[in-house]
Amino acid sequence: MQDFGYKVVDAIVDHFETQDQKLPVATATRKEIDALFCEEAPENPMAADDVLKFVLENVMPNSNVITHPKAYAFVPGPSNYISVMSDTLATGFNIFAGGWVGSPAAAGVEINTLNWMLKLFNFQVKKGGGIFTSGGSMANLTALATARKVKCGDEFSKAIIYLSDQAHSSNIKAINILGFKKEQIRIIPTDMEFKFSINKLKNAIAKDKIEGLQPFCMIASAGTTNTGTIDPLEELARICKKENIWLHVDGAYGAAAMLSKNGKKLLKGIEKADSLTVDPHKWLFQPYEIGCLLVQNHKWLSRTFTEKPVYLRDIEGNQSEINFYDHGIELTRNFRALKFYMSIKTFGLQAFRKAIDYSIDLAEAVEAELRQSNKWEVISPATLAIINFRYNTVEEKLSEKKLDEMNQKISAKMMASGEALLVTTILQGQVVLRMCLINPRTTIEDVKNTLALCEKFALE
Ligand SMILES: *Cc1c(COP(=O)(O)O)cnc(C)c1O
Repeated sequence: MQDFGYKVVDAIVDHFETQDQKLPVATATRKEIDALFCEEAPENPMAADDVLKFVLENVMPNSNVITHPKAYAFVPGPSNYISVMSDTLATGFNIFAGGWVGSPAAAGVEINTLNWMLKLFNFQVKKGGGIFTSGGSMANLTALATARKVKCGDEFSKAIIYLSDQAHSSNIKAINILGFKKEQIRIIPTDMEFKFSINKLKNAIAKDKIEGLQPFCMIASAGTTNTGTIDPLEELARICKKENIWLHVDGAYGAAAMLSKNGKKLLKGIEKADSLTVDPHKWLFQPYEIGCLLVQNHKWLSRTFTEKPVYLRDIEGNQSEINFYDHGIELTRNFRALKFYMSIKTFGLQAFRKAIDYSIDLAEAVEAELRQSNKWEVISPATLAIINFRYNTVEEKLSEKKLDEMNQKISAKMMASGEALLVTTILQGQVVLRMCLINPRTTIEDVKNTLALCEKFALE
Protein backbone atom coordinates (compact mmCIF):
# COMPACT_ATOMS: atom_id res chain seq x y z
CA MET A 1 0.00 0.00 0.00
CA GLN A 2 2.74 2.44 0.92
CA ASP A 3 4.77 1.65 -2.16
CA PHE A 4 1.77 2.19 -4.41
CA GLY A 5 0.73 5.33 -2.54
CA TYR A 6 4.18 6.89 -2.81
CA LYS A 7 4.15 6.23 -6.54
CA VAL A 8 0.85 8.07 -6.86
CA VAL A 9 2.08 10.99 -4.75
CA ASP A 10 5.31 11.13 -6.75
CA ALA A 11 3.32 11.30 -9.98
CA ILE A 12 1.16 14.13 -8.64
CA VAL A 13 4.11 16.10 -7.28
CA ASP A 14 5.99 15.60 -10.54
CA HIS A 15 2.95 16.95 -12.38
CA PHE A 16 2.75 19.98 -10.09
CA GLU A 17 6.43 20.68 -10.76
CA THR A 18 6.33 20.23 -14.52
CA GLN A 19 2.78 21.26 -15.44
CA ASP A 20 3.77 24.77 -16.50
CA GLN A 21 6.22 23.33 -19.05
CA LYS A 22 3.68 20.95 -20.58
CA LEU A 23 1.35 21.90 -23.43
CA PRO A 24 -2.08 22.79 -22.03
CA VAL A 25 -4.15 21.35 -24.87
CA ALA A 26 -4.73 17.67 -25.53
CA THR A 27 -6.72 16.68 -28.58
CA ALA A 28 -7.62 13.18 -29.65
CA THR A 29 -10.34 11.70 -31.80
CA ARG A 30 -12.84 9.08 -30.65
CA LYS A 31 -10.99 6.57 -32.76
CA GLU A 32 -7.63 7.28 -31.14
CA ILE A 33 -9.14 7.16 -27.66
CA ASP A 34 -11.02 3.93 -28.36
CA ALA A 35 -7.79 2.37 -29.58
CA LEU A 36 -6.31 3.04 -26.14
CA PHE A 37 -9.16 2.06 -23.84
CA CYS A 38 -11.63 -0.15 -25.65
CA GLU A 39 -11.35 -3.64 -24.20
CA GLU A 40 -13.44 -6.21 -22.36
CA ALA A 41 -13.53 -5.95 -18.55
CA PRO A 42 -10.67 -8.25 -17.53
CA GLU A 43 -11.52 -11.42 -15.59
CA ASN A 44 -7.97 -11.76 -14.29
CA PRO A 45 -5.93 -9.40 -12.16
CA MET A 46 -3.03 -7.28 -13.29
CA ALA A 47 -0.24 -5.73 -11.22
CA ALA A 48 -1.38 -2.40 -9.73
CA ASP A 49 1.93 -0.83 -10.81
CA ASP A 50 1.22 -1.80 -14.40
CA VAL A 51 -2.28 -0.34 -14.31
CA LEU A 52 -0.87 2.85 -12.80
CA LYS A 53 1.84 3.04 -15.45
CA PHE A 54 -0.74 2.59 -18.21
CA VAL A 55 -2.92 5.33 -16.73
CA LEU A 56 -0.03 7.77 -16.31
CA GLU A 57 1.05 7.15 -19.88
CA ASN A 58 -2.33 7.19 -21.57
CA VAL A 59 -4.94 8.97 -19.49
CA MET A 60 -3.11 11.98 -18.09
CA PRO A 61 -1.38 13.11 -21.32
CA ASN A 62 -4.70 12.90 -23.16
CA SER A 63 -6.30 15.45 -20.84
CA ASN A 64 -6.03 19.21 -20.95
CA VAL A 65 -3.79 20.76 -18.31
CA ILE A 66 -6.49 23.02 -16.95
CA THR A 67 -4.07 24.24 -14.25
CA HIS A 68 -1.66 25.53 -16.93
CA PRO A 69 -0.81 29.27 -16.98
CA LYS A 70 -1.87 29.36 -20.63
CA ALA A 71 -5.23 27.66 -20.06
CA TYR A 72 -7.38 30.73 -20.73
CA ALA A 73 -10.58 29.10 -21.97
CA PHE A 74 -13.84 28.41 -20.10
CA VAL A 75 -13.07 28.79 -16.41
CA PRO A 76 -9.64 27.39 -15.58
CA GLY A 77 -9.13 25.26 -12.46
CA PRO A 78 -5.82 26.34 -10.93
CA SER A 79 -6.26 23.92 -7.95
CA ASN A 80 -3.82 23.62 -5.03
CA TYR A 81 -1.80 20.79 -3.58
CA ILE A 82 -3.12 20.98 0.00
CA SER A 83 -6.68 20.43 -1.24
CA VAL A 84 -5.57 17.57 -3.48
CA MET A 85 -4.12 15.79 -0.46
CA SER A 86 -7.15 16.68 1.68
CA ASP A 87 -9.39 15.06 -0.93
CA THR A 88 -7.16 12.01 -0.78
CA LEU A 89 -7.62 11.92 3.01
CA ALA A 90 -11.39 12.23 2.78
CA THR A 91 -11.44 9.42 0.22
CA GLY A 92 -8.87 7.37 2.09
CA PHE A 93 -11.00 7.31 5.22
CA ASN A 94 -14.12 7.04 3.03
CA ILE A 95 -15.97 9.41 5.32
CA PHE A 96 -19.73 9.50 4.80
CA ALA A 97 -20.74 13.15 4.83
CA GLY A 98 -24.46 12.54 4.36
CA GLY A 99 -25.61 12.67 7.97
CA TRP A 100 -24.57 13.48 11.50
CA VAL A 101 -24.32 9.84 12.55
CA GLY A 102 -22.03 9.04 9.60
CA SER A 103 -19.53 11.59 10.83
CA PRO A 104 -20.39 14.28 13.36
CA ALA A 105 -17.03 15.90 12.54
CA ALA A 106 -17.69 16.00 8.79
CA ALA A 107 -20.99 17.75 9.50
CA GLY A 108 -19.22 20.08 11.92
CA VAL A 109 -16.50 20.99 9.44
CA GLU A 110 -19.11 21.57 6.73
CA ILE A 111 -21.22 23.76 9.04
CA ASN A 112 -18.18 25.78 10.07
CA THR A 113 -16.83 26.22 6.53
CA LEU A 114 -20.30 27.23 5.32
CA ASN A 115 -20.43 29.76 8.15
CA TRP A 116 -17.18 31.27 6.86
CA MET A 117 -18.89 31.67 3.49
CA LEU A 118 -22.10 33.09 5.00
CA LYS A 119 -20.02 35.66 6.85
CA LEU A 120 -17.97 36.52 3.76
CA PHE A 121 -21.15 37.31 1.83
CA ASN A 122 -22.80 39.16 4.73
CA PHE A 123 -25.56 36.59 5.11
CA GLN A 124 -26.87 36.09 8.65
CA VAL A 125 -24.76 33.26 10.05
CA LYS A 126 -27.30 32.22 12.71
CA LYS A 127 -30.33 32.00 10.49
CA GLY A 128 -28.61 31.24 7.21
CA GLY A 129 -27.53 27.90 5.87
CA GLY A 130 -26.13 26.12 2.90
CA ILE A 131 -24.59 23.00 1.47
CA PHE A 132 -21.56 21.96 -0.51
CA THR A 133 -22.48 20.38 -3.83
CA SER A 134 -20.58 18.78 -6.68
CA GLY A 135 -20.43 22.12 -8.51
CA GLY A 136 -22.26 25.25 -9.60
CA SER A 137 -24.80 23.39 -11.73
CA MET A 138 -25.92 21.30 -8.78
CA ALA A 139 -25.98 24.37 -6.52
CA ASN A 140 -28.22 26.20 -9.01
CA LEU A 141 -30.54 23.19 -9.27
CA THR A 142 -30.72 22.94 -5.48
CA ALA A 143 -31.45 26.68 -5.25
CA LEU A 144 -34.26 26.64 -7.80
CA ALA A 145 -35.91 23.59 -6.23
CA THR A 146 -35.79 25.45 -2.90
CA ALA A 147 -37.13 28.70 -4.39
CA ARG A 148 -40.05 26.83 -5.90
CA LYS A 149 -40.92 24.99 -2.71
CA VAL A 150 -40.80 28.15 -0.58
CA LYS A 151 -42.58 30.47 -3.02
CA CYS A 152 -45.04 28.10 -4.72
CA GLY A 153 -45.43 25.00 -2.56
CA ASP A 154 -46.51 22.18 -4.85
CA GLU A 155 -48.56 24.19 -7.34
CA PHE A 156 -46.35 25.99 -9.82
CA SER A 157 -48.20 25.94 -13.12
CA LYS A 158 -48.38 29.75 -13.20
CA ALA A 159 -44.93 30.43 -11.76
CA ILE A 160 -42.60 32.50 -13.94
CA ILE A 161 -38.77 32.64 -13.82
CA TYR A 162 -36.70 35.56 -15.11
CA LEU A 163 -33.09 35.38 -16.23
CA SER A 164 -30.91 37.29 -18.66
CA ASP A 165 -29.61 36.09 -22.01
CA GLN A 166 -26.14 36.00 -20.41
CA ALA A 167 -27.16 33.69 -17.53
CA HIS A 168 -25.29 30.39 -17.41
CA SER A 169 -26.81 27.44 -19.29
CA SER A 170 -26.92 25.35 -16.09
CA ASN A 171 -29.85 27.51 -14.94
CA ILE A 172 -31.95 26.62 -17.97
CA LYS A 173 -30.95 23.00 -17.47
CA ALA A 174 -32.13 23.16 -13.85
CA ILE A 175 -35.41 24.81 -14.87
CA ASN A 176 -35.99 22.01 -17.39
CA ILE A 177 -35.12 19.28 -14.89
CA LEU A 178 -37.61 20.77 -12.43
CA GLY A 179 -40.37 20.41 -15.02
CA PHE A 180 -41.13 24.03 -15.80
CA LYS A 181 -42.54 24.58 -19.27
CA LYS A 182 -40.95 26.82 -21.88
CA GLU A 183 -43.80 29.30 -21.39
CA GLN A 184 -42.72 29.80 -17.77
CA ILE A 185 -39.26 31.11 -18.64
CA ARG A 186 -38.54 34.76 -19.51
CA ILE A 187 -35.14 35.35 -21.04
CA ILE A 188 -34.58 39.08 -20.71
CA PRO A 189 -32.19 40.74 -23.17
CA THR A 190 -29.07 42.39 -21.78
CA ASP A 191 -27.99 45.96 -22.47
CA MET A 192 -24.82 47.04 -24.30
CA GLU A 193 -22.79 46.17 -21.21
CA PHE A 194 -24.24 42.65 -20.93
CA LYS A 195 -26.33 43.50 -17.84
CA PHE A 196 -29.98 42.69 -17.22
CA SER A 197 -32.02 45.34 -19.03
CA ILE A 198 -34.08 46.67 -16.11
CA ASN A 199 -36.69 48.33 -18.30
CA LYS A 200 -37.39 45.14 -20.25
CA LEU A 201 -37.47 43.17 -17.03
CA LYS A 202 -40.05 45.50 -15.47
CA ASN A 203 -42.17 45.31 -18.62
CA ALA A 204 -42.09 41.51 -18.53
CA ILE A 205 -43.06 41.32 -14.85
CA ALA A 206 -45.91 43.81 -15.28
CA LYS A 207 -47.27 41.95 -18.30
CA ASP A 208 -47.12 38.60 -16.53
CA LYS A 209 -49.01 40.00 -13.53
CA ILE A 210 -51.75 41.41 -15.78
CA GLU A 211 -52.12 37.96 -17.31
CA GLY A 212 -52.62 36.44 -13.86
CA LEU A 213 -49.28 34.65 -13.80
CA GLN A 214 -47.02 34.43 -10.74
CA PRO A 215 -43.56 36.01 -11.07
CA PHE A 216 -41.67 33.94 -8.49
CA CYS A 217 -37.96 33.73 -9.20
CA MET A 218 -35.20 35.85 -10.68
CA ILE A 219 -31.74 34.57 -11.52
CA ALA A 220 -29.08 37.28 -11.48
CA SER A 221 -25.47 36.67 -12.47
CA ALA A 222 -22.61 37.83 -10.26
CA GLY A 223 -20.01 37.49 -12.88
CA THR A 224 -21.35 36.09 -16.15
CA THR A 225 -19.17 33.35 -17.57
CA ASN A 226 -18.81 35.14 -20.92
CA THR A 227 -17.67 38.57 -19.77
CA GLY A 228 -17.51 38.61 -15.96
CA THR A 229 -20.32 41.16 -15.88
CA ILE A 230 -22.21 41.61 -12.62
CA ASP A 231 -25.93 42.31 -12.94
CA PRO A 232 -27.23 45.40 -11.07
CA LEU A 233 -27.77 43.46 -7.85
CA GLU A 234 -29.11 46.30 -5.67
CA GLU A 235 -31.69 47.25 -8.23
CA LEU A 236 -32.74 43.66 -8.91
CA ALA A 237 -33.03 43.07 -5.15
CA ARG A 238 -35.32 46.11 -4.88
CA ILE A 239 -37.57 44.82 -7.66
CA CYS A 240 -37.65 41.34 -6.14
CA LYS A 241 -38.59 42.67 -2.72
CA LYS A 242 -41.37 44.82 -4.14
CA GLU A 243 -42.76 42.02 -6.30
CA ASN A 244 -42.23 39.20 -3.77
CA ILE A 245 -39.83 37.41 -6.11
CA TRP A 246 -37.08 35.04 -4.97
CA LEU A 247 -33.65 36.41 -5.87
CA HIS A 248 -31.13 33.74 -6.78
CA VAL A 249 -27.67 35.05 -7.50
CA ASP A 250 -25.53 32.75 -9.62
CA GLY A 251 -22.06 33.68 -8.41
CA ALA A 252 -20.44 30.46 -9.63
CA TYR A 253 -17.95 32.43 -11.62
CA GLY A 254 -17.51 35.77 -9.87
CA ALA A 255 -18.72 35.64 -6.26
CA ALA A 256 -15.19 34.71 -5.12
CA ALA A 257 -14.18 38.29 -5.95
CA MET A 258 -15.87 39.20 -2.64
CA LEU A 259 -12.45 38.46 -1.14
CA SER A 260 -10.89 41.38 -2.99
CA LYS A 261 -11.49 45.03 -2.12
CA ASN A 262 -12.57 46.02 -5.62
CA GLY A 263 -14.67 42.92 -6.10
CA LYS A 264 -16.47 43.56 -2.83
CA LYS A 265 -17.53 47.00 -4.04
CA LEU A 266 -18.73 45.62 -7.37
CA LEU A 267 -20.70 42.84 -5.64
CA LYS A 268 -22.62 45.22 -3.39
CA GLY A 269 -26.15 43.93 -2.97
CA ILE A 270 -25.15 40.25 -3.10
CA GLU A 271 -26.11 40.02 0.59
CA LYS A 272 -29.72 40.63 -0.41
CA ALA A 273 -29.97 37.39 -2.40
CA ASP A 274 -32.32 34.72 -1.06
CA SER A 275 -29.91 32.13 -2.39
CA LEU A 276 -26.38 32.34 -3.74
CA THR A 277 -24.27 29.92 -5.74
CA VAL A 278 -20.52 30.00 -5.19
CA ASP A 279 -18.17 27.57 -6.94
CA PRO A 280 -14.98 26.93 -4.94
CA HIS A 281 -13.55 24.72 -7.70
CA LYS A 282 -13.24 27.83 -9.84
CA TRP A 283 -11.79 31.06 -8.39
CA LEU A 284 -11.28 29.64 -4.89
CA PHE A 285 -8.66 27.27 -6.26
CA GLN A 286 -10.15 23.95 -5.17
CA PRO A 287 -9.72 20.78 -7.24
CA TYR A 288 -12.94 19.31 -8.66
CA GLU A 289 -15.56 18.81 -7.33
CA ILE A 290 -16.93 21.40 -4.96
CA GLY A 291 -19.75 23.87 -5.44
CA CYS A 292 -21.61 25.74 -2.73
CA LEU A 293 -25.12 27.00 -2.16
CA LEU A 294 -25.91 29.57 0.52
CA VAL A 295 -29.42 30.54 1.63
CA GLN A 296 -30.74 33.19 4.02
CA ASN A 297 -32.74 30.67 6.04
CA HIS A 298 -31.51 27.11 6.60
CA LYS A 299 -35.09 25.97 7.19
CA TRP A 300 -35.83 26.59 3.51
CA LEU A 301 -33.47 23.74 2.64
CA SER A 302 -34.80 21.27 5.19
CA ARG A 303 -38.38 22.14 4.18
CA THR A 304 -37.53 21.32 0.56
CA PHE A 305 -35.39 18.23 0.92
CA THR A 306 -36.44 16.34 4.06
CA GLU A 307 -37.90 12.90 3.51
CA LYS A 308 -38.22 10.38 6.35
CA PRO A 309 -37.75 6.82 5.13
CA VAL A 310 -37.98 4.10 7.79
CA TYR A 311 -34.39 2.95 7.38
CA LEU A 312 -33.09 6.37 8.43
CA ARG A 313 -35.33 6.73 11.50
CA ASP A 314 -32.70 5.63 14.01
CA ILE A 315 -30.21 8.28 13.01
CA GLU A 316 -32.31 11.40 13.25
CA GLY A 317 -30.40 13.11 16.06
CA ASN A 318 -31.53 16.39 17.51
CA GLN A 319 -32.45 19.62 15.73
CA SER A 320 -29.02 21.19 15.80
CA GLU A 321 -27.29 18.09 14.49
CA ILE A 322 -27.61 18.74 10.79
CA ASN A 323 -28.08 15.84 8.40
CA PHE A 324 -26.95 17.29 5.09
CA TYR A 325 -29.02 14.68 3.26
CA ASP A 326 -31.96 16.76 4.49
CA HIS A 327 -30.48 19.93 2.98
CA GLY A 328 -29.92 18.85 -0.58
CA ILE A 329 -30.35 16.22 -3.27
CA GLU A 330 -27.70 13.64 -2.37
CA LEU A 331 -27.84 11.08 0.45
CA THR A 332 -24.37 9.57 0.21
CA ARG A 333 -21.91 12.42 -0.24
CA ASN A 334 -18.17 12.62 -0.11
CA PHE A 335 -16.54 14.92 2.40
CA ARG A 336 -15.79 17.79 0.04
CA ALA A 337 -15.82 20.43 2.77
CA LEU A 338 -12.53 19.02 4.09
CA LYS A 339 -10.33 20.29 1.27
CA PHE A 340 -11.82 23.77 1.39
CA TYR A 341 -11.44 23.85 5.17
CA MET A 342 -7.86 22.57 5.17
CA SER A 343 -6.71 24.89 2.38
CA ILE A 344 -8.21 27.98 4.03
CA LYS A 345 -6.60 27.02 7.34
CA THR A 346 -3.25 26.30 5.68
CA PHE A 347 -2.95 29.36 3.45
CA GLY A 348 -5.14 31.84 5.32
CA LEU A 349 -7.73 34.00 3.56
CA GLN A 350 -4.98 36.53 2.86
CA ALA A 351 -3.42 34.25 0.25
CA PHE A 352 -6.80 33.88 -1.46
CA ARG A 353 -7.34 37.64 -1.44
CA LYS A 354 -3.90 38.21 -2.92
CA ALA A 355 -4.42 35.66 -5.69
CA ILE A 356 -7.81 37.13 -6.62
CA ASP A 357 -6.50 40.71 -6.63
CA TYR A 358 -3.64 39.54 -8.81
CA SER A 359 -6.02 38.06 -11.44
CA ILE A 360 -8.15 41.19 -11.57
CA ASP A 361 -5.03 43.35 -12.03
CA LEU A 362 -3.59 40.98 -14.62
CA ALA A 363 -6.70 41.23 -16.82
CA GLU A 364 -6.44 45.03 -16.61
CA ALA A 365 -2.80 44.89 -17.64
CA VAL A 366 -3.79 42.69 -20.59
CA GLU A 367 -6.45 45.22 -21.56
CA ALA A 368 -3.87 48.01 -21.54
CA GLU A 369 -1.55 45.86 -23.65
CA LEU A 370 -4.30 45.20 -26.23
CA ARG A 371 -5.34 48.85 -26.39
CA GLN A 372 -1.87 50.07 -27.26
CA SER A 373 -1.56 47.64 -30.16
CA ASN A 374 -2.90 48.47 -33.62
CA LYS A 375 -3.78 44.81 -34.20
CA TRP A 376 -6.29 44.19 -31.44
CA GLU A 377 -9.72 45.51 -30.52
CA VAL A 378 -11.12 45.14 -27.01
CA ILE A 379 -14.75 43.99 -27.21
CA SER A 380 -15.52 43.59 -23.53
CA PRO A 381 -13.07 45.27 -21.13
CA ALA A 382 -11.36 43.48 -18.25
CA THR A 383 -14.10 42.58 -15.77
CA LEU A 384 -13.47 40.23 -12.84
CA ALA A 385 -10.40 38.82 -14.61
CA ILE A 386 -12.20 38.12 -17.92
CA ILE A 387 -11.43 39.97 -21.13
CA ASN A 388 -12.84 39.57 -24.66
CA PHE A 389 -11.07 40.91 -27.72
CA ARG A 390 -10.53 40.26 -31.37
CA TYR A 391 -7.88 40.56 -33.99
CA ASN A 392 -8.86 43.61 -36.04
CA THR A 393 -5.84 45.34 -37.45
CA VAL A 394 -6.07 49.00 -38.45
CA GLU A 395 -3.92 48.28 -41.49
CA GLU A 396 -6.53 46.16 -43.17
CA LYS A 397 -10.26 46.87 -43.13
CA LEU A 398 -12.00 43.52 -43.07
CA SER A 399 -15.74 42.84 -43.28
CA GLU A 400 -17.49 41.52 -40.15
CA LYS A 401 -17.69 38.10 -41.77
CA LYS A 402 -13.95 38.08 -42.54
CA LEU A 403 -13.18 39.23 -38.99
CA ASP A 404 -15.23 36.37 -37.57
CA GLU A 405 -13.36 33.90 -39.79
CA MET A 406 -10.01 35.41 -38.87
CA ASN A 407 -10.58 35.10 -35.12
CA GLN A 408 -12.01 31.62 -35.48
CA LYS A 409 -8.89 30.68 -37.44
CA ILE A 410 -6.58 32.08 -34.75
CA SER A 411 -8.31 29.99 -32.08
CA ALA A 412 -8.32 26.84 -34.24
CA LYS A 413 -4.60 27.18 -35.01
CA MET A 414 -3.81 27.85 -31.37
CA MET A 415 -5.70 24.76 -30.23
CA ALA A 416 -4.06 22.64 -32.96
CA SER A 417 -0.63 23.86 -31.83
CA GLY A 418 -1.49 22.96 -28.22
CA GLU A 419 0.37 26.07 -27.04
CA ALA A 420 -2.57 27.73 -25.31
CA LEU A 421 -6.12 26.78 -24.44
CA LEU A 422 -7.81 29.73 -26.13
CA VAL A 423 -11.28 29.56 -27.66
CA THR A 424 -13.86 31.99 -29.00
CA THR A 425 -17.22 33.10 -27.75
CA ILE A 426 -19.89 35.22 -29.40
CA LEU A 427 -20.68 38.70 -28.11
CA GLN A 428 -23.28 40.85 -29.82
CA GLY A 429 -23.03 38.68 -32.91
CA GLN A 430 -19.22 38.91 -33.19
CA VAL A 431 -16.78 36.04 -32.86
CA VAL A 432 -14.28 37.10 -30.20
CA LEU A 433 -11.39 35.54 -28.29
CA ARG A 434 -11.95 35.19 -24.56
CA MET A 435 -9.41 34.98 -21.76
CA CYS A 436 -10.32 34.05 -18.21
CA LEU A 437 -7.24 34.90 -16.16
CA ILE A 438 -7.92 33.44 -12.71
CA ASN A 439 -4.76 31.35 -12.55
CA PRO A 440 -2.34 33.12 -10.18
CA ARG A 441 0.59 31.46 -11.97
CA THR A 442 -0.28 33.17 -15.27
CA THR A 443 2.02 36.13 -15.93
CA ILE A 444 1.72 39.09 -18.29
CA GLU A 445 4.65 37.52 -20.21
CA ASP A 446 2.58 34.35 -20.76
CA VAL A 447 -0.21 36.45 -22.22
CA LYS A 448 2.16 38.54 -24.38
CA ASN A 449 3.67 35.33 -25.79
CA THR A 450 0.21 33.99 -26.57
CA LEU A 451 -0.82 37.24 -28.28
CA ALA A 452 2.36 37.20 -30.37
CA LEU A 453 1.55 33.64 -31.43
CA CYS A 454 -2.00 34.74 -32.32
CA GLU A 455 -0.58 37.50 -34.51
CA LYS A 456 1.64 34.97 -36.28
CA PHE A 457 -1.35 32.63 -36.87
CA ALA A 458 -3.41 35.54 -38.20
CA LEU A 459 -0.94 36.06 -41.05
CA GLU A 460 -0.70 32.38 -42.02
C1 LIG B 1 -19.36 27.42 -14.19
C2 LIG B 1 -20.64 28.07 -13.97
C3 LIG B 1 -21.77 27.32 -13.59
C4 LIG B 1 -21.74 25.82 -13.53
O1 LIG B 1 -20.91 25.36 -12.53
P1 LIG B 1 -20.26 23.88 -12.61
O2 LIG B 1 -19.38 23.87 -11.42
O3 LIG B 1 -19.51 23.85 -13.92
O4 LIG B 1 -21.35 22.91 -12.57
C5 LIG B 1 -22.93 28.00 -13.32
N1 LIG B 1 -23.00 29.34 -13.42
C6 LIG B 1 -21.93 30.10 -13.78
C7 LIG B 1 -22.07 31.58 -13.85
C8 LIG B 1 -20.72 29.48 -14.07
O5 LIG B 1 -19.66 30.23 -14.45
